[in-house]
Amino acid sequence: MASRNEQPPHFLFVPLMSQSHLIPFTQMAKLLAFNGVSVTIVLTPLNAARFNMVIDQAKALNLKIQFHILPFPCLEVGLPEGCENMDTLPSNQYVQLFFAASNMLKDPFVRWLSELETLPTCIVSDFCLPWTADVASRFKIPRVVFQGISCFALLCSHKISHSNVHESVTSMSQPFVVPDLPDTIEFTKAQLPEALLQDSGAWKRTIEIFKAAENSADGILVNTFEELEKMYVQGYEKTVKKIWCIGPLSLHDRLILERTRIDGNKTSVDGSECLKFLSSNKPCSVIYVCFGSLCRINASQLKEIALGLEASGHPFIWVIGKNDCSAELDKWLVEEKFEERNSGRGVIVRGWAPQVEILSHSSTGGFLSHCGWNSLLEAVSAGIPLVTWPLSAEQFFNQKLIVQVLKVGVGIGVGEVVDPMEGQKTVFVKKEHVKKVIDQLMEQSGDGELRRNRARELKQMAYMAVEDGGSSSSHCKLFIQKIVGLVPS
Ligand code: UDP
Repeated sequence: MASRNEQPPHFLFVPLMSQSHLIPFTQMAKLLAFNGVSVTIVLTPLNAARFNMVIDQAKALNLKIQFHILPFPCLEVGLPEGCENMDTLPSNQYVQLFFAASNMLKDPFVRWLSELETLPTCIVSDFCLPWTADVASRFKIPRVVFQGISCFALLCSHKISHSNVHESVTSMSQPFVVPDLPDTIEFTKAQLPEALLQDSGAWKRTIEIFKAAENSADGILVNTFEELEKMYVQGYEKTVKKIWCIGPLSLHDRLILERTRIDGNKTSVDGSECLKFLSSNKPCSVIYVCFGSLCRINASQLKEIALGLEASGHPFIWVIGKNDCSAELDKWLVEEKFEERNSGRGVIVRGWAPQVEILSHSSTGGFLSHCGWNSLLEAVSAGIPLVTWPLSAEQFFNQKLIVQVLKVGVGIGVGEVVDPMEGQKTVFVKKEHVKKVIDQLMEQSGDGELRRNRARELKQMAYMAVEDGGSSSSHCKLFIQKIVGLVPS
């Protein structure tokens, strides 16, 4: 049986194999390593190859970060070979299989731990990987859960599921007020994540298992910062358990990499084109459009977005995710001569854009976003106001925080959750409305100016939080001290 050696502290990270989980996990690895911890990240071969630059960055920065690679059991569960990341799943039908494969990582993980001479100081596990609770208790290793969403969303979700207030309404579109929150926050059932609805079956049970594993953890790390949503951080901590707010992780990451002038996004050809384009435009003039790493949007809706962007007259960078690229859309773009027509005024990125760099550029003035939490935090850190277009998961909660509580966004006006993997079936927002809301956001005076000023204030708060002695940096240090103190000598 392995024994534990306290020096230096060694934290084992176990993320879900999905971009919006892997990105903050790798950023958190750099942050903790920067604070003297040795970090091992458990990855699968495809994801290790995708994030290889983290190892290069760690070497250049003299940080102790390494990967431990476990094969992902695609074929064993009936996933196509190579489906190791959620963004490679052919459709929604495969999501449960993906979680089944993620759960099967437990046995090889246990075998590997048993063979280690020295056990890790701590396991930091993804909220979505509840099997880590059992492993940690078996090996008597402290375990902390990482939450990659806002405390606002966590608390809303908690209050709704514990009060069942949403079951008191008579239709999907009737608003209800979430009880016991610092602000008056209304939702409709149509806007709730599937797992909160009574008839969601397998998902409801899955989330209950995730929650039980969170309840038995030694604490929760959240990618947020205290000043952004203080009342909600306090509310969640009071209701659930100890929280350390160590975000925005993307901002910590940016500052760590800047110290050695490392470019985190060197790989993208489109990336350099975007940055060149931004440099040729006026400050705060460009609208950036991106729907995250997973969402799928049908070609008809994408055409409306294209025409709305064009009609707005603002320079734009529009990311068409790899799952949204289709023969139909490409044919339309060519037939319309859309790119020719907008040459010099807009850039289309097919696939992956260097989002953090784009948002941080002084020419970027607005962000049309699907309200994924990483994207929102990246916008907050860059002081960029948003058009919010939530699609699924907790994105409607995030929209409320951005538009109603923080007042740095304009809602596009969609009213219901769509299946993220299947995409919406119809056109929800017409080009005229896309133009109207973008114009509203980019307005230089009036409400536009107020939103921009508030966004700049949030940026300042974010920078203060990650500075030495700031709330986020302090939480990170306190977290490490607490965990090291938990380890029996
Ligand atoms: N992202 C990126 N380039 C892209 C699309 C996404 O860098 O072209 C990054 C983005 O910066 C963020 C993450 O992918 O860190 C998306 O996470 P988010 O929580 O916003 O959305 P999700 O992918 O979970 O829907």
